[in-house]
Order: sequence, then C-alpha cells, then structure tokens
Amino acid sequence: MKKLTIAQKQKALEVIAKEIEVCKICRKDKIGVSVPGEGSANADIVFIGEAPGKQESVIGRPFIGRAGKVLRGLIAEVGLKDKDVYITSPVKYLPSYVTPTPEDVAHGRIHLRKQLDVIDPKVVVLLGRVAVLALLEKNVSIGKVHGAIEEKDGITYAIMYHPAAPLYNPNVRVDLVKDFKRLKRLIKK
Ligand code: URA
Repeated sequence: MKKLTIAQKQKALEVIAKEIEVCKICRKDKIGVSVPGEGSANADIVFIGEAPGKQESVIGRPFIGRAGKVLRGLIAEVGLKDKDVYITSPVKYLPSYVTPTPEDVAHGRIHLRKQLDVIDPKVVVLLGRVAVLALLEKNVSIGKVHGAIEEKDGITYAIMYHPAAPLYNPNVRVDLVKDFKRLKRLIKK
C-alpha cells in the first residue's frame, strides 16, 4: 500500500470502524456495541487483545476495565505515549459465551488485517493466545512463547501474555513487564 498521510489513515480507520459496526457476521451471538479499536492512526505499535469485555461493550472503547488498567499502566510505565500506540482486538464485539470461537477469530482477522494495513506499525504486539491465533494462525501456549519476536509477511510481531493474566496469576507480571521493556528498543530499529 502507498504511504498515507495521518488524515488519510484516520479516515480509512473510520471507514473500517463503520464496516465493523454494520457487520452481521461480527455481530452474530454478540452483545452490546462494536469496539473497533482506538489510538493513533500513525502508531508505531499496535496492541492486539482478545475480545471486548462487559464494560468495553457498553462504551465502545477497548481495554477500559481491569485488564485495560494493567495494559495502559504498562504502556505508560515503559514511556510510550498515546501517539505511539493503537489498541484493538481480533473480535470486535463481546461474545455471549466465554471464549471466542475459531470462526469468530477467523472472521475478525479480516477487519484486523485491514486496520493493520492502514496503520502500518513497526511492531504488532500479540497479547495472548487468541491474538496469536488471529495473526500468526497457530495455537500456542503463551507461557512457552511469550517474549518471542516473529517476522511474517514483512510485519514484526511480539508475543506477550494478555494483560488479564497477572490478575489471575500475579507471578506473570514480572514476565509481562520484561517483555514490555523491549518494545521501545524494537521500534527504534
Ligand atoms: N480484553 C481484551 O482483550 N480486550 C478488551 O477490550 C478488554 C479485555
């Protein structure tokens, strides 16, 4: 894709957000409003989660609950600014069941790839198993692969724990902080 200006990127992201809002496949068996993503259209880093939670599905913004507090706290802790980041997920609505299905992830991938094409970030951070399944199309155990950096189709992916993980297992926070600290170096390359 040719280089877009920030204004063109913003416009293109708005068009994608509208597509998500009216997408019947996205909305099947889901709850609440769409959560397309938020942040800088010119971000160096895109964070990819799993699916919106209850609070997100009411407001339409990603990561505003407890996991969001962890994610946004870590972003600030390593010195990244709002202009550096965009936050989204493969599944754009809250599922009416606990874990997104492989079909949810496969469909969400279509919208997600369009968003990444527009933003054209330096690094895509895959937060958890579902994000890895969405973009690297493989099933992994995050405990084994977190911290890995992978290149695929010209995109650099950094694999990390989902920020909800330390809420269930506080020991994981050390690894998450360590993986986050590498991000600034990665985008300087
Ligand atoms: N978990 C996610 O993956 N995304 C959100 O927006 C909230 C929780």
